[in-house]
Parts: sequence; C-alpha cells; structure tokens
Amino acid sequence: MMRCPRFLYAAPASLHEACARMEEAGGEARILAGGTDLVPNMKRRQQTPRRVISLRRIGELQGAEIGGDRLRIGAMTTLAPLVEDGRIREQYRALFQAAAQVATPHLRNMGTLGGNLCLDTRCNYYDQNYEWRQAISFCMKKDGEVCWVAPGSPRCYAVSSTDTAPALWALGAEVALESAGGERILPIPQLYRDDGIEYLAKKPAEILTRILLPVAAKGESSTYWKLRRRGSFDFPVLSIAAWMRRDEGGVVEAARLVLGSVASRPVPVEAASALVGAALTDDSIEALAEEASRLAKPLDNTDFSLGWRKKAARHLVAGALRELRGDDPRSLGPLARRACELVPG
Ligand SMILES: Cc1cc2nc3c(=O)[nH]c(=O)nc-3n(C[C@H](O)[C@H](O)[C@H](O)COP(=O)(O)OP(=O)(O)OC[C@H]3O[C@@H](n4cnc5c(N)ncnc54)[C@H](O)[C@@H]3O)c2cc1C
Ligand code: SF4
Repeated sequence: MMRCPRFLYAAPASLHEACARMEEAGGEARILAGGTDLVPNMKRRQQTPRRVISLRRIGELQGAEIGGDRLRIGAMTTLAPLVEDGRIREQYRALFQAAAQVATPHLRNMGTLGGNLCLDTRCNYYDQNYEWRQAISFCMKKDGEVCWVAPGSPRCYAVSSTDTAPALWALGAEVALESAGGERILPIPQLYRDDGIEYLAKKPAEILTRILLPVAAKGESSTYWKLRRRGSFDFPVLSIAAWMRRDEGGVVEAARLVLGSVASRPVPVEAASALVGAALTDDSIEALAEEASRLAKPLDNTDFSLGWRKKAARHLVAGALRELRGDDPRSLGPLARRACELVPG
C-alpha cells in the first residue's frame, strides 16, 4: 500500500485565513481541493508539500451564480453539480462536455473545477510510483536531472491534461487569484505557461477562487471533443474545444479553437479568426483542420503514437467544426464518432 508522506494539515474556515496560511508557509504549502490529483501524487512522492491547506470549509468558494455580465463559478465547485447545471449544459456546452468527461462519476463527485484547472502535467516517465522513477534515476520534473523524452533538453515537456482548461479558454473565461496581497484577474490564456514543471503563472501563495465566464450571447455555440483509450475514465490524449458566434444567416462573427493535451499548456489555433465574415464551408473547415494538425506537435510521452495523434487532430477539428455547423457528428467517420460518442446530452 502506498502512503502519503507526513505533512501538517490545516482547514481554514475563511478565504482570508487561507491566504494568511499560504503566505506564512512561504511556498511550502499546497492547496487541497478534492484531492483526486494531489493525494495520489503525494503517495507517489511526485509532490511532497510540508503543509497542506484544505479549502473544503470555505463556503464562498462553492457554487455558480450570475452577477453583472459574468457567470461566476467558485473554484471549489465539484464537477458533478456543474454537469447537472442547466445553464452550463445549454449555454456553455464545451464546459459541460469537458466536465462530464473528466475521470469517473466518483472522481467528479470529489474533483473540483479549480483543481482541474491546476491539475499537474502528465508524462509516461513521471506518472509512476517512486521505485519505478528511482530505477531510471528520476527525471527533471521531480528528483532527477534529465528529461527522458527529450534528453539534452533544458525544459520538461510533460503534457497539460486538464479537460476543462481548453474548453474555458475557448469560451473566453477568466480566473480570479487571491493572496494576502489582494486579488488579480487573469484571462485563462495567461494562467498557463509552456513548461511541464512551472505550468501555471499563478504565484505559489495564490489561491484560485473563481472562474468568470461572459454571459452567453445570442448566436453562440461551443463543443468539446476528447480522444482517449478507455472512454470510462482516461485522461485526454488529444482534445478540441471550439466556440463561435454566428449571425442568423450563419455568418461567423467570432471564433476560437483550442487544442488540449498536445503541449505543456493548451494551444490556441489563431487561424480560427480566418473563419470570421463567412459561413462555414467544407473548404474553410478543412483548411482550419489542416492548420490545427500542423500546430499539434505532441511528443511521445502519453498514450497512442505521436504520429497518429497528430493525424487525429485534423479529423477531430473537422468533426467539431462540422458539429457546430449543424452536421450530425455521427456521420463523420469512426474516429470522430469515437471522440464524441461519450458526450452526454
Ligand atoms: C483515475 C483518474 C482519472 C482521471 N481522469 C481525468 C480526466 O479524464 N480528465 C481530467 O481533467 N482529470 C482527470 N483526473 C484528475 C482529477 O481527478 C481531476 O482533474 C480533478 O478535477 C482535480 O480536482 P481536485 O479538486 O481533486 O484537485 P486536487 O487534487 O485537490 O488539486 C489538484 C492540484 O491543483 C491545486 N489546486 C486545487 N485547487 C486549487 C485552488 N483553488 N487554487 C490553487 N491551487 C489549487 C492543488 O494544490 C493540486 O496541485 C483523473 C484522476 C484519476 C485519479
Ligand atoms: S517530459 Fe521529461 S522532464 Fe518532463 S516529466 Fe517527462 S521525462 Fe520528466
């Protein structure tokens, strides 16, 4: 049996107290939300914080409410009620689909949206127990010096594997970060860094408190497609989040496309802006799918071969865009069917 290393535990009852505790720990503390990522990582000695600060007792970090022109979701809101929320299901479909496909029902009962956004990056050489990693002299991400995926590389290429980050990026979300020094708001793209170790731009003592989504406007639609080996609970090995706003004639007014699980952070496909000003056609969809496949440069450190994942990106992007156009995704071939067959609703 794997056991957690010893640590000091605190469960403050207010955000103010939690910020003070994080500050006094001086970078030695970790936030505990649902614990579905942190606790197994501690058992494997991938993360060994001296202090663990739980947010479970802080009521203001729970739930979702509309205030002004934003939907505000508390970082401690667990994924299960989020998936049941009609506003998310209907107006922020990409988030609903992403959250609904995280892990298993049990893990969605415990796992929070904030924890999902701060999820550790993943790699075949890292997601192993201590003895396995010791046998290869560890790696740069924890306890070692070399990157086994790209020996000679000065950086770690562990993969961003959160389902909800690409969806929230495509939906134009922001996050609120709180510390003893006050609050700051970051657009989701600024929360992530392209580095497998320092993958968050969050300062060590900052707590992610809320996720802010613009109130959905007329003509908006979004979708999230996820590729994984076992549909019952696997992490994504490739994901596509697409959002657009179209006028009544079907002309695209704004569009965002984001790839997940192909780098240490979600990857935006800037060429999506080329869709603006015209209706979606087979040609414009294929051109964007081609460009997305060019940008998707996965390394050989997760499931499936990297060449196949790269090719799959083209099919999945085309499928997701066709779904937004109104095509039946089940008519788009076996790979597309597989990526969306488990999407509920
Ligand atoms: C078998 C299995 C399958 C899984 N499959 C998937 C999957 O398909 N897709 C997926 O995305 N995830 C998956 N996960 C990972 C995990 O269950 C989810 O990502 C979950 O949403 C994490 O949330 P949590 O509240 O449990 O995070 P925790 O484990 O509590 O925290 C995760 C990390 O975020 C930090 N953190 C948490 N909340 C905050 C906050 N408010 N402010 C600052 N830092 C914070 C923690 O310190 C920790 O480093 C899987 C896990 C398991 C065990
Ligand atoms: S990408 Fe390299 S350094 Fe990063 S976890 Fe994998 S093997 Fe380790």
